[in-house]
Amino acid sequence: MSPPRNPRRAYDANGNEIPPVTVGQSLAEGYRTVMAYCEAHNCGHGAEVPLKGWSADLPVPHMALRLRCSKCGGRRIRMMVNVTELYARAHGAGRTGR
Ligand SMILES: [Zn+2]
Repeated sequence: MSPPRNPRRAYDANGNEIPPVTVGQSLAEGYRTVMAYCEAHNCGHGAEVPLKGWSADLPVPHMALRLRCSKCGGRRIRMMVNVTELYARAHGAGRTGR
């Protein structure tokens, strides 16, 4: 029997828990913001949330617990990597290797 799953955690194909990235780790990776998306039906509002000001050891998914949708007031928020920022970094100048 496997232990009950925490819906705020990610699991790999074998059911092992993947530790969530923390605010501090994201900042160290070069991110300055994350995206927060409202999961309310018919809303889907998305907003950039600056990582600055959050405690460094806070797991990024837990930021959702303290956020509220600015459009509908909903509290079901999903945190995502800011893909715009990711894209800019992946295609930015100064990237070496490959
Ligand atoms: Zn909303």
